[in-house]
Formats: sequence, structure tokens, C-alpha cells
Amino acid sequence: MTTFTIEKTDAPTAPERRAELLANPSFGRVFTDHMAIIRYNEADGWHDAKVTARRPLSIDPASTVLHYGQEIFEGMKAYRGEDGHIASFRPQANAARFAASAQRMGMAVLPENLFLQAVDELVKIDQDWVPSGEGQSLYLRPFMISNEVFLGVKPATEYLFIVIACPVGAYFGSGCVSVWVSENYTRAAIGGTGEAKCGGNYAGSLVAQAESKAQGCDQVLFLDARERRFVEEMGGMNVMFVRNDGKIVTPPLGGTILRGITRDSLIKLAAAEGVEVVEEQIEIDELFEGAASGKYVEAFACGTAAVLSPIGSLRRPAGEAKFGDGTTPGPVSLRLKKVLTDLQGGRTNDAFNWVHRIV
Ligand SMILES: *Cc1c(COP(=O)(O)O)cnc(C)c1O
Repeated sequence: MTTFTIEKTDAPTAPERRAELLANPSFGRVFTDHMAIIRYNEADGWHDAKVTARRPLSIDPASTVLHYGQEIFEGMKAYRGEDGHIASFRPQANAARFAASAQRMGMAVLPENLFLQAVDELVKIDQDWVPSGEGQSLYLRPFMISNEVFLGVKPATEYLFIVIACPVGAYFGSGCVSVWVSENYTRAAIGGTGEAKCGGNYAGSLVAQAESKAQGCDQVLFLDARERRFVEEMGGMNVMFVRNDGKIVTPPLGGTILRGITRDSLIKLAAAEGVEVVEEQIEIDELFEGAASGKYVEAFACGTAAVLSPIGSLRRPAGEAKFGDGTTPGPVSLRLKKVLTDLQGGRTNDAFNWVHRIV
């Protein structure tokens, strides 16, 4: 175990103010009092691990991240169980994916145990910030930036790993989201960075997200970059469809789709519930036809932030595909969401050993 220096803030948020903030946290705007931080350079390796007051960073204008974008992140949550204890969900999977993202982006690889420890240390010190309301949790954002002062183009030799946290409620409302199928933009190509959880992937997806909004939709769905024929995923969530034969179908991982931990969890939980999840290519035209003919009866997006969000309709210039009545979440989506959230909230038996108790 690495020793983290603990520097408690001398200006903690007042308990009454915190209670007010926790009552109705909007996503990603309210932050806890502390952050975990670890530095890397070639001479010292990973060093100076600490939990300290959350505050602005001071970086040089020539810091590499500002120019060439070596940045990766994770998204995970800590949940308060009914017994008051706090647990995270499959944190090892986040640590492993973070290491894989670092590798892909040519960054220093943070040992997985340090990643896990940093997250736990932050949750412990900010444990009063973990809300207990339904659908609420403490969203954790570990991330890493390159921070060498140099404008040459090469992998940097200095990095900052940081974890910040924010109490969150539901990401979307309780109904269905509408999704715009992007025909103008793609998210990831074979050999590219689609499997890395890096800020650059998001930067490239935002104009498509804006287009989706302009079309009156909530989210955007990307197709494969080569033919724009097969469904891949959303900007920050994986996607699944329920067929009328009772099976769920989702695009296979193949280097361009992010390896969602929610996706993987749902595949395993569905199987345990007797629902098979088939990983196969889904043609966008066939999906629109199948939604109309009743072959596809439900659709949903899945990811840590949004958990499981039923999709009511897909839209593209040529028309609309509705799932069910287009506004009411379907039974398979609702059941899987309950199975997952009950497990994360510590309300059911943890058969897969996924729940990691922190406090
Ligand atoms: C983070 C992310 C997901 C979801 O991953 P989870 O591990 O389930 O949170 C899906 N797609 C993209 C592009 C992502 O960045």
C-alpha cells in the first residue's frame, strides 16, 4: 500500500449547505471538498500521492495536454447502501480500463492498485458527500493529463493523475430518451482511439451531439466509420436492443466501441436472469425496418452515468423508428435496470462479487 498524505481542507463546506446540495444535485456541477492526486515523472515514477483540498490546478501554458490532448478518464460511482455503508461497483474493471487507455494514448501507466487506493481514499475523506436518495450516488472521476512543458510532439514524460467527485442524481429523467442517428459524423475508426476512454473522443463527438439537439433529440448514435451501415454506440454510452424472440442484441466489441462495464455487467446479469445477450452486428436499415415490423421491441443505452436509459425512438433524415409506443420504457429494460441498481445499492446478493465496500 502506498501512503497517501492526507491534507484536510481548512474550509470544508458547512453541513447545512452540503445537505442542501445533496438534496437535488444536478449532474457534474457540485463537487466535494477534496481531490486525490498523484504525480509522475521519469526520474521518480509515481510519487507525491495525496488527498488534499479540491482547488484549481496551476499548469504552464506550454503543458503538453493543452496542445496535443493526452488525456484519459474514468467514470465510476460510490453508492450508499440501506445499512449506511458505502461501496463502489467493479472498481478493478475501471482500473484495468484506465491502464489500457493510458497504454493506447502513450501515457505512463498508473499501477491498478494505486488507482483503486486513490479512489477509496477520496471516498473515505468525503464520505458525507455520498447521498442516500433513490438513484443518487457519488460520481467519481479519475483522470490523467500529460503535463510536460514542451511543444515537441512525442509522448510526455510527466503526468498528473487526479480523482474528483460529485454527488449526482438521475442523469436522465424517468421516461425514454430520443436518439439522433448521426450520418454526417463518426466516432471511431479501426486502429483509432475508440476503445480508449479519452477526452479526444468526446471532443470529436460534440458537434454530432449538438446536431442531435438541433433535431430535437437527447442523444446521438454513431455508425461504423467504414460503411456507416452498422450500429456502434452513443457518444458516452453503449446500446442494446430487445428483440421479439426475447433476446437482447448489442454490437460486438471490435476496437471501435468502448468496453463499457455497464454493458458487460448487463450481459452477465441478463444471462443470470435467463435472457440471452447476442453480440452481433446490427444494420441500421434492418433496425429501422425491424422497429416498424415489431422485431425490435425495446432499446436502451447503458453506462455508469446514465445507468440504463430506455430509448423511445431513433431518428434520422429518412424517418423514425419507434420502440413500443415511443414513450414508455419496456419491461425488459425496466427489469434489467432494477436488477443492476439493486445490486449496486447493496439490496441483493452479490453473486459475481462486484460490490467493493469502502466504508
Ligand atoms: C464510459 C463510456 C461508456 C460506458 O462505460 P461504462 O463503463 O459502462 O460506464 C460507453 N461508451 C463510451 C464512449 C464511454 O466513454
